[in-house]
Amino acid sequence: MSDCIFCTIVAGGIPADVVVETDNVVAFRDIAPKAPLHVLVAPKTHVPNVAAAAREIPEILAEMAIVAQQVADAESGGEFRWIFNTGPSAGQTVFHVHGHVMNGGSLGWSE
Ligand code: C5P
Repeated sequence: MSDCIFCTIVAGGIPADVVVETDNVVAFRDIAPKAPLHVLVAPKTHVPNVAAAAREIPEILAEMAIVAQQVADAESGGEFRWIFNTGPSAGQTVFHVHGHVMNGGSLGWSE
């Protein structure tokens, strides 16, 4: 999608600190990290949210989980929180599905 910031990142139009990339998935550091480990894992294909990903690209959603684990294996002893905000009231601001891979600091359920 031409007006999607994550599609632009996937296409190389905006620089990002990429930590893992596969044919289908990219993982890059959040520009405004909320935890010591805060990496976003997104498919290269544009879908708006995690349920759409499960319906439309289930194998790539599974690959996203494997990439999230790879990030955590490299950076946080294999342990991580994986968050998919869905909808503005839940805090979603970019409508290209992405999982927040987070760890470190003092993560609580409300954060
Ligand atoms: O779940 P939500 O849609 O709010 O997450 C979007 C995330 O994308 C934010 O944490 C924001 O900091 C991040 N972001 C980024 N690089 C951009 C634009 C947004 O890491 N160029």
